[in-house]
Amino acid sequence: MFCAPADLERKCHELQEQWQMCHLGADVERLVEFAVFMSSFSDFLERQGWSGLLQMSRNLEAQVLASFDKVGTGEIPFPLLTEISSQVQLLSERVAQFVERNTQTTVQRRQSLATDLVASLNAAPQVWFVADTAIHWDALITQLGYFGIQGRVVNLQSIPTDASEPRILLLDGRGLVAQQACEQVQSLRGRFSATKLIAYLGQDDFNAYKNMLRAGADYCFSVDSSTSLVLGKLIDLCSTTAESPYRVLIVEDSPTASKSIQIAIGKGGMTSVAVANPAEVLKGMRQFEPDLVLMDMYMPDCTGVEATRIIRQHAEFLSTPVVYLSGDGDMALQVDALRLGGDHFLTKPFNPVLLNAVVKSKIERYRTLRRSMECDGLTGLFNHRTIKERLNTVMHEASFHAKPVTAVMIDIDHFKTVNDTYGHPAGDQVLRSLAWLLKLRLRATDLAGRYGGEEFLLVLPGVDTQQAYEILDRIRHDFSGIQQAFEGGWFSVTFSAGLSHSRQVDQADVLIKEADAMLYEAKQNGRNCVFPLN
Ligand code: GH3
Ligand code: MG
Ligand code: MG
Ligand code: MG
Repeated sequence: MFCAPADLERKCHELQEQWQMCHLGADVERLVEFAVFMSSFSDFLERQGWSGLLQMSRNLEAQVLASFDKVGTGEIPFPLLTEISSQVQLLSERVAQFVERNTQTTVQRRQSLATDLVASLNAAPQVWFVADTAIHWDALITQLGYFGIQGRVVNLQSIPTDASEPRILLLDGRGLVAQQACEQVQSLRGRFSATKLIAYLGQDDFNAYKNMLRAGADYCFSVDSSTSLVLGKLIDLCSTTAESPYRVLIVEDSPTASKSIQIAIGKGGMTSVAVANPAEVLKGMRQFEPDLVLMDMYMPDCTGVEATRIIRQHAEFLSTPVVYLSGDGDMALQVDALRLGGDHFLTKPFNPVLLNAVVKSKIERYRTLRRSMECDGLTGLFNHRTIKERLNTVMHEASFHAKPVTAVMIDIDHFKTVNDTYGHPAGDQVLRSLAWLLKLRLRATDLAGRYGGEEFLLVLPGVDTQQAYEILDRIRHDFSGIQQAFEGGWFSVTFSAGLSHSRQVDQADVLIKEADAMLYEAKQNGRNCVFPLN
């Protein structure tokens, strides 16, 4: 998800202010605070997908962390201050350049967002292939076009200096010697602050990968990678991915400790809620749905270990990470605490850099685990169980706010024949291509799931059936235009879809049944259409 450059500008001002304070105070505590802020600044850039700025920010963060050893507990030496200052300055300049270049396009994008419901109506994402000849890339560019992504081949020398940033730059390094390829990646990285940079290599070679990644590439592919792998990655990088901030529940009886933990977690860019009484922990977990629990060890009536054991009695919280915070560094106690259901042990007084790093890495893993439990392996969309659960939640929220929800059931036409004629792997590729198209075309608030073999369920909150018809019919039209590749040629596939609207019903099952009945009508009507017709 892309935020306005104004947000970036504001955050960058904050960064400069934080550094100024650190510079004035010049003591290690300020440096720790600055490191925590740098980490949340990097996370922000990562969420936006601005990979050039992110690399600079991560480098600066790493340098600040490395300087802790040099500083010890005393004052920050002057040369180190100067060095970090110049890097902060450099990063700020790059941010300013980026903001200036992108303000115009964002204003335009805002306007189109206000009037249109479908993400596809925003400016098409651009992918540039930096190559001497178009011959290797034409077929892939045609494929990208089916998904509404604009690809073009550019020559390194002919890129105008004031060119706005494409979403992705792919450097074709096949005809280049290693040194040349590295230099080109470095020069592109220097010029494009937000663009994802992909290096395409002549061979699958460890050292070539290493050099390219060091030079600033975000990803590498080699000639050994299949076209569908490269296409899938390009589409993934162009899709909207909005990750909500990490959520931490703090269980801590001391108000002072609780406040200082909340401040540290907040500076790390995460949200938190604190409970003082361990008896409230289950209620807190149900209401706040945290990604992680920070658990004090000693509380009146109940220890942290006991509270964790109670949490673990509930199936829905079996995998939620619990990190203990305790003033006691006793090894036997730590081992025991981990054995009884905890995931990590930190001692108080805590170092905020370490606290944030531990919490973030645990949450990252937890979210990855949850994603694998909630999503379908082939398409990456929600699986059957999850999309039904989400539909229920969305309908509850919508009825509370008196907002409409439309459910859509999609079924691929004559899919059995596709498998029989072109083979099962080609059929799988068709399913993946529909999932890609849906990810690119739907808004971040829409939900898409694989309901069954070749059936998909979409949930569109705040959309009535007429708007949904327009969105779906456009996707239907574009899907039927995709040329699906198989050994020896191309074929095309269509789908039928049924819509149902939550006006009179508030049960997910009823809505799904209605969408299914409409899908049946669409099939009866000759397939390749959306029902009810507008
Ligand atoms: P209709 O237009 O009436 O929907 O006809 P159809 O052939 O699409 O419907 P049918 O239900 O007869 O066939 C569905 C086929 O989908 C049968 C099954 O083998 C195939 N299928 C289900 N899951 C997968 C999958 O994961 N991969 C592939 N390649 N095929 C799958
Ligand atoms: Mg306590
Ligand atoms: Mg079916
Ligand atoms: Mg079918």
